[in-house]
Amino acid sequence: MIPAEFEYTRPSSIAEAVAAIAEAGEDGKILGGGQSLIPILRLRLAYPSTIIDVSRVDDMRGVREDGDAILIGSMTTHHDVMHDALVVEHAPLIAQATETVADPQVRHRGTFGGALAHADPAGDLGAVALALGCEFVANGANGERRIPASEFFLDYLTTALSPDEVLTAIRVPKLGAGWSSHYEKFNRVAQAWSIVAVAALVKRENGSISEARIGLTNMGSTPLRSSAVEQALAGADVSDEAVSAAAEHAADGTNAPSDLSGKSDYREHLARVLTKRAVLSAASS
Ligand SMILES: Cc1cc2nc3c(=O)[nH]c(=O)nc-3n(C[C@H](O)[C@H](O)[C@H](O)COP(=O)(O)OP(=O)(O)OC[C@H]3O[C@@H](n4cnc5c(N)ncnc54)[C@H](O)[C@@H]3O)c2cc1C
Repeated sequence: MIPAEFEYTRPSSIAEAVAAIAEAGEDGKILGGGQSLIPILRLRLAYPSTIIDVSRVDDMRGVREDGDAILIGSMTTHHDVMHDALVVEHAPLIAQATETVADPQVRHRGTFGGALAHADPAGDLGAVALALGCEFVANGANGERRIPASEFFLDYLTTALSPDEVLTAIRVPKLGAGWSSHYEKFNRVAQAWSIVAVAALVKRENGSISEARIGLTNMGSTPLRSSAVEQALAGADVSDEAVSAAAEHAADGTNAPSDLSGKSDYREHLARVLTKRAVLSAASS
């Protein structure tokens, strides 16, 4: 349970962090809140030569307005994200989902960007970022680039970030008028990981749903968007019957895992049930 030896560096700016990653090369590893990486190091599932600790880079912390979006610094802790006034006002789905992440101790150390960069499909924030249409801001030797959420999650624990890039912020479009949201998580005990969860965003016009965005947690090797449900909900009534019919498509195109918490067909059933609950809760809030 003791990590292999490594060099440790703690940059204090984005420029220093980028330089440190470039110097470390492919054997370098970025440390955020350490809630996932430290156990991995202790189990010797990874043995990087250099750890670049970006948790004290001030420019990567906090939440600010950015025109029609809010910008969440990647090193903002879960605790700070869920209590931030801008997040609560413009992206309440993030605040609600973050409240279900782990326990207070983990939420005080773990970070929004660390969780997204880790890309665990059972993590709660990937499906939320997909549904909200977030953009990931990455800085590397070639400067800054923005990666749409739809292109960020490539596979299990794998993202579009290059080894020489650091995730510095996440740009979250502000929700416009008429939109409401709900995160519905199913886990065995409070504070546990999702067996399945659903992030729902619903826009209502003239009493019916004009547009919906659905993100699925733990229904494949990456977080997923359910385009089948989204299409079925467009123009649907906000009725139990119409939403149930749309939610029947929730497992379409998914590849849910089978593990000790449940087989894939059980997860498919959960996806349908939770989608209905999430959409009805969002539409009635
Ligand atoms: C007991 C426990 C329960 C948990 N339960 C849940 C849960 O219910 N739901 C949930 O969503 N999560 C859960 N988590 C995970 C939690 O959200 C972690 O905070 C998260 O997975 C990792 O965030 P971190 O900041 O600690 O990142 P770290 O552990 O420091 O890093 C994780 C990975 O991301 C990379 N990384 C970190 N920051 C950056 C960056 N800025 N740029 C590029 N790469 C970066 C690291 O190199 C590493 O590969 C749980 C964790 C624990 C320990």
